[in-house]
Amino acid sequence: MSPQSCDVVVNSDETGRFSWAKSVPIEEQIESLYKKVEVRDPDQKEFLQAFSEVLHSLTPLFKAEPKYLAVLETIAEPERIIVFRVPWLDDRGHQRVNRGFRVQFSSTLGPYKGGLRFHPTVNLGVIKFLGFEQIFKNSLTGLPMGGGKGGSDFDPKGKSDNEILRFCQSFMTSLYRHIGADTDVPAGDINVGGREIGYLFGQYKRLMNQFEGVLTGKALNWGGSLIRPEATGYGAVYFAQNWSEDNNVPLKGARCLISGSGNVAQYTIEKLIHLGAVPLTMSDSSGYVYEPEGFTPEKLEKMMEIKNVRRGRVSDYCAAFPSSKFFTGKRPWDIQNVKYAFPSATQNEIDASDARMLAKNGCLCVVEGANMPSTNEAIDVYKQSGIILCPAKAANAGGVAVSGLEMAQNSMRTAWTREEVDEKLKNIIKSIYENCKEAAAKYGHPGDIQMGANIAGFLKVADSVIEQGCV
Ligand code: NDP
Repeated sequence: MSPQSCDVVVNSDETGRFSWAKSVPIEEQIESLYKKVEVRDPDQKEFLQAFSEVLHSLTPLFKAEPKYLAVLETIAEPERIIVFRVPWLDDRGHQRVNRGFRVQFSSTLGPYKGGLRFHPTVNLGVIKFLGFEQIFKNSLTGLPMGGGKGGSDFDPKGKSDNEILRFCQSFMTSLYRHIGADTDVPAGDINVGGREIGYLFGQYKRLMNQFEGVLTGKALNWGGSLIRPEATGYGAVYFAQNWSEDNNVPLKGARCLISGSGNVAQYTIEKLIHLGAVPLTMSDSSGYVYEPEGFTPEKLEKMMEIKNVRRGRVSDYCAAFPSSKFFTGKRPWDIQNVKYAFPSATQNEIDASDARMLAKNGCLCVVEGANMPSTNEAIDVYKQSGIILCPAKAANAGGVAVSGLEMAQNSMRTAWTREEVDEKLKNIIKSIYENCKEAAAKYGHPGDIQMGANIAGFLKVADSVIEQGCV
């Protein structure tokens, strides 16, 4: 097949036949592609949401070069999906079972790369949305990484360390045959941190009799990279810093809202404090904590101890600092007089009414630390009210970027210093920001970072798909 032969065809009818689509208005072609993907997996609402966001935001590109619509259709179909049983024994000796997933979405730019999430809300639609986003995020980093994602509906809350160990070993016993340093390199995500990566790596090594860089987020003693734990949060703040300098909205002194209290939220706050910003909130699924004068290093340290060592709840923090207040069951978007929001917990944590609240409270820029934290309706509100969206695939790419650097160090059998990795991270984020800006301007929407991220991330993968023979 010549690379051109797939340029302008789109499968726009229900019979499954390809048809030449040049004469059909591009908006109709876009809607018919959405319907086709929807019909295939009508229950995967998170995946359909992520697909719709990318599809519609690429409209200016499709108008200029319709050939890319068919390429998006190809990319939106995962190369391979692995679903497996994860049996394990709890501490009472009772037999338990969960479902495991690995979606190997795209190997166009390199080995599949993306984290593992353990959370009761995990299902195939969630993993597919995360994997789909990961393709374009990894592309934006400029590093040779394809896109993938995995996880399980296992709920680690209330589980003992031994139960986590047994679960991780069982999970890897099914997954190991599908991954490898040059095939698929998982990492952490929600509820998969250093402890879980250790247990997973140890089991992989036993099964394969091989020490290789098959996972990232490893501990420093056995192949991890400095700055990897900090990378997603730091990267989100570096991204905000690029935007702030460009648009004269200083981070220094800026009141910022942060959701979440895990890895991403913690290091977002640490870097915001370094830069003189005022991080006001942290949250978990039970509510949020408000610190009226902002978190300080010692207050953050306390929260980290509660979350990382005691594995407690954010509400426990208020006992130590009576100046703070806990809002049960609420999300932190109703605080007044703010400049930046850093949603860093989970998907769909800002809906349209939250977005209206942010606009009313003065927020100028939403920097997504979490993946897909804004609903598509919230994104519409940002656009109407002039809030700039720094989307997840650009703003939280620092994590996977340093994972890519960890892979490079593993391959070279070397270890870079903290300063070296941090400098590389800053440069990668700067170049992502510049590429997003440039792509948005080129396609007639200067300043639209969300559109720029989608176009720049997509184009590199799409051109490579064509160059590789439309596979
Ligand atoms: P962690 O497990 O360290 O922390 C997750 C945080 O989000 C916890 O505070 C958790 O609270 C909260 N949370 C999870 N689910 C919900 C929910 N349904 N409602 C409210 N709060 C919730 O995960 P990370 O910090 O690693 O990940 C956070 C986000 O960042 C995710 O979207 C992830 O995909 C994204 N991300 C992470 C990267 C990384 O390097 N770790 C890289 C790029 C993106 P609770 O304890 O109550 O569940």
